[in-house]
Amino acid sequence: MASSSYPPPLRTRFIRKVFSLAVLAALFVHLPLPVYGAESPTTAIKVDQVGYPVDGPKVALVGSPGKIFQLKCSSDGAVVFSANLTAPQGDANTGDQVQAADFSSFRTPGTYYIEIPGVGRSWNFTLGGNVYERTYYMAMRGFYGQRCGTAVDMGPEFPGFSHPACHLHGEFHASSGARGERDNVGGWHDAGDYGRYMVNSGISTGTLLWAWEIYGPKLKDIQLKIPETGNGTPDILNEARWNLEWMLKMQDVDGGVWHKQTSEGFSGFIAPQDDKLTSEVIGTGSAPYKSTCATADLAAVAAIAARVYKPFDAKFAARNLEAARSAWAWAKKNTSVTFRNPPGVSTGEYGDRNCSDERLWAAAELARTTGESAFSDYFLQNYAQFLPILDSPPAEGWSQVAPMALWTYALSNPKGADPKAVEAIRRRTVTAAQAVAARTRANAYRTSMRASDYVWGSNGVAAGYGMYLLIANVFSPDASFTDTARDNLHYLLGRNTFSLSWVTQVGENPFQHPHHRPSGATGKAWPGLLSGGPNAGRQDAVLAALPKDLPPAKVYADQLASYASNEICINWQAALVFLLAGELK
Ligand SMILES: [Zn+2]
Repeated sequence: MASSSYPPPLRTRFIRKVFSLAVLAALFVHLPLPVYGAESPTTAIKVDQVGYPVDGPKVALVGSPGKIFQLKCSSDGAVVFSANLTAPQGDANTGDQVQAADFSSFRTPGTYYIEIPGVGRSWNFTLGGNVYERTYYMAMRGFYGQRCGTAVDMGPEFPGFSHPACHLHGEFHASSGARGERDNVGGWHDAGDYGRYMVNSGISTGTLLWAWEIYGPKLKDIQLKIPETGNGTPDILNEARWNLEWMLKMQDVDGGVWHKQTSEGFSGFIAPQDDKLTSEVIGTGSAPYKSTCATADLAAVAAIAARVYKPFDAKFAARNLEAARSAWAWAKKNTSVTFRNPPGVSTGEYGDRNCSDERLWAAAELARTTGESAFSDYFLQNYAQFLPILDSPPAEGWSQVAPMALWTYALSNPKGADPKAVEAIRRRTVTAAQAVAARTRANAYRTSMRASDYVWGSNGVAAGYGMYLLIANVFSPDASFTDTARDNLHYLLGRNTFSLSWVTQVGENPFQHPHHRPSGATGKAWPGLLSGGPNAGRQDAVLAALPKDLPPAKVYADQLASYASNEICINWQAALVFLLAGELK
């Protein structure tokens, strides 16, 4: 530290000594170095550790009693704004009494922190124009870090985060109906494990392609420093293609798609290149071996890809359309072949029992891409039964893609579309979004989360609310929708009961111990990854050992062993990217 320019010049020996103690303490507990003053930030003050758009609502939340708050400049500690905290409001989901520090009327860009006499100071945050661009970059590069079958290097910005090529060899599992080698190199590791799963790839890759379709002008110039950067294709599409190419390889010659490619059981907490378990293409165990959900998911995503990649690589787009058509034909013949782990296989199941929503999504995306009436006819004959799902945001998830089906139809309004169907989808989405916005305003923590939302992957639910609100905003632009979406982003980036940023290496107090094999093997958290978040289901031993009376939003442990609350996963990562893309300027 002595040779660095840190800390800034301070006036007395006493302050210098206190400051160096703080630096020392910060090193030991992995806290960021304080920019000004000796005091460590307190978890009692909850801010979005990335920041707030300078022209929007700006609220910090406080979990310890206070009266007034001050907004201070990080560089010199000068008070730039001060006001009263609101009266305490009880929050049943956390058990906290919460006060709000509203500094919306302060509009000078810069880096600040909140200080409350008797409580302490917050972590630093930025007020600016496009405050989430760096976080978007980090979250998208989170996908790059998940790449399988290639050497990965996060670059000089993140030294030590690299690995040689992994999982280069694959075989057909006995359950696949085929035998011999099937390498299928590529794709993203799904989560904290090294498996690759079609169904979860479907929603994840589809969500990224949608982010491009809706927010392309904001995303097209953001470079992700990935191997393809500069090839003339926007980087979000380059990264999505990495997984899409693997998805295409999972399609059999008859059009059907195998459900997953994993080892029979999970590997230990080792680096990807050290995982020598055979990577196997796993099927349903009996004819037709491929599953309907996986096949229809490929049909939907490849149909999106067929229109999205057309301006950049017409040949690739055509390959996707062909794959989508043959997958559709297979799923039409095999309408409900569901998947269960065959004997001896214990990796993630993604065992969806109902594939009718996947087929609806495939039909809607194919209708949007081709304009052919066969697809829109199927959609119109089947969509009505799915409409009520829109009344319960966030509604979509890896096993429930009906909202994607309904939305893509209403977004594209294809030739010959039924205006009644389009209107019903739009109206229900906007009405539900208005209810979510009202509920979020009334919530002490300003999140859309209800007690029942604190499930496995609850942070994906929070991001999913954001996505829902942003889709509603496309149908019917309304600042309360984008503001409420951003409230859920604030929750993920530190404005929560733990004062934790749930994205690794983002913000000054990010979570540290993801259930993620590369992080476990490296000994530190790989950058840009979203934690699963609080989970009242307590399906692991760490959560089971927490006090029995913890409110749902507090059932979380920043521990590697807590796979039920602290794993990372591409589907909630994709929802985060969509939310960030929507909040970019
Ligand atoms: Zn791999």
